[in-house]
Amino acid sequence: MRDGYCCTPAKGYFFWHPLDLLIQSGWLSRLGTVLLLDAVARGLGTAQALDEALRFRPDAVFTLSGSLTRAGDRRFLSALRERLPAVRIIGSGDELRYETIETLRAFPELDGALTDFTSPDLSRWIESPASAPGPDLVVRAGDGFAGAPKGNPRRVIEDARFEYPLPRQDLFVGPEYRIPSSPRRFASVLTSYGCNQPCTYCSVSRLGAKLREPESVEEEILRLRRDQAVSHVFFRDATLTMDREHILNLCARLRRSCPWLTFNGWTRVDLVDGEVIREMKAAGLRLLSFGLESGDDQVLRRNGKTATARQAADALALCRLHGVRTLGHFVVGLPGETPESFQATLRWIESLPLDYAAFTVAEPRPGTLLKRKNHQHEDLALARRRHAEAIRGFYLRPSLWVHHARRLRTPPEAASLIREARDFVRIMLLPA
Ligand code: SF4
Repeated sequence: MRDGYCCTPAKGYFFWHPLDLLIQSGWLSRLGTVLLLDAVARGLGTAQALDEALRFRPDAVFTLSGSLTRAGDRRFLSALRERLPAVRIIGSGDELRYETIETLRAFPELDGALTDFTSPDLSRWIESPASAPGPDLVVRAGDGFAGAPKGNPRRVIEDARFEYPLPRQDLFVGPEYRIPSSPRRFASVLTSYGCNQPCTYCSVSRLGAKLREPESVEEEILRLRRDQAVSHVFFRDATLTMDREHILNLCARLRRSCPWLTFNGWTRVDLVDGEVIREMKAAGLRLLSFGLESGDDQVLRRNGKTATARQAADALALCRLHGVRTLGHFVVGLPGETPESFQATLRWIESLPLDYAAFTVAEPRPGTLLKRKNHQHEDLALARRRHAEAIRGFYLRPSLWVHHARRLRTPPEAASLIREARDFVRIMLLPA
């Protein structure tokens, strides 16, 4: 799967809405009819996806491609281009965002790359292809390219705001999208873009940071309820509480206008406090995910993480106090991790008031400082063994299941726990 400048193997049967396509659907719908073709979530093969695309006969295609999927993406787009030579194809993805020119040179099927998926520049260019591309688009021009790639420089925009037309949620809400610990019918919504932290293993740190107007978020959620009967939202921000005033303002609005709302989100442990958790809970927060990475402050510091293990424990305790479930994400094999610090992290994780955990192996992905520093695992097999050990260590503890069982009040809750247990074990037992 690839979206939001990230590329990850699909975990079992969990699929979330492709964010870049979702956000662009609002801009592109202003130009004409839009078809969503998510072959990954629908399990379509190349031939089926091609058939569907050819039946629609698009004038322009906005597509996702990623560092892990480029070969397959090229095969599909090459077949599409052969059948529709005049179609204009613009891509978005980790390589296209952070290594724009090199990737376009190696990807002749693409006419260009959109380097900010909240931007109107793609729709403007489709309307007037002869005009110069805006700052968020790079297109082929003669033997070279027009438009400026953003590259890797860290760009922190304080208090910048952004806006886009309401996305075509009707195309996206559907049974093929599914995430753990959420109702079957849910929608993805964005309240901010990017992140202002310098974590070495995360490409989001290179996007800058900007906030969406709360009025617009509120309007989108109200429309979701009215038009799609959706009352659960997955806030797709990298850091939902990046700006304290912004999240408190949004929660106050949602509490007044959407008392039926429930939501999940991601944030950082150093950006929550009692008031923020209380207000989010009152606005419908059910589960909050945190990037915890490691229990060793030295490893955290070396990898640009400014939060500490103490702050992590405090944030999780606050969530438990307010009845918010938590999911911690950990990265195995970060630079500086030793056998001792890994074992200490495992013991630390067991001591945390954490409901769920997810583990990944550190990788030098496009846009990350790890890639720019050419970080390689001394022993990748060892990192993978540690990854498996961490999953077993967390999920095979009887105390965890006793904790979950104690939460149960009704038969539907029991059924939901069984589903969650099955889903989480299934997702976590897949390879990193
Ligand atoms: S705080 Fe989270 S989203 Fe931000 S750069 Fe670090 S890992 Fe990425």
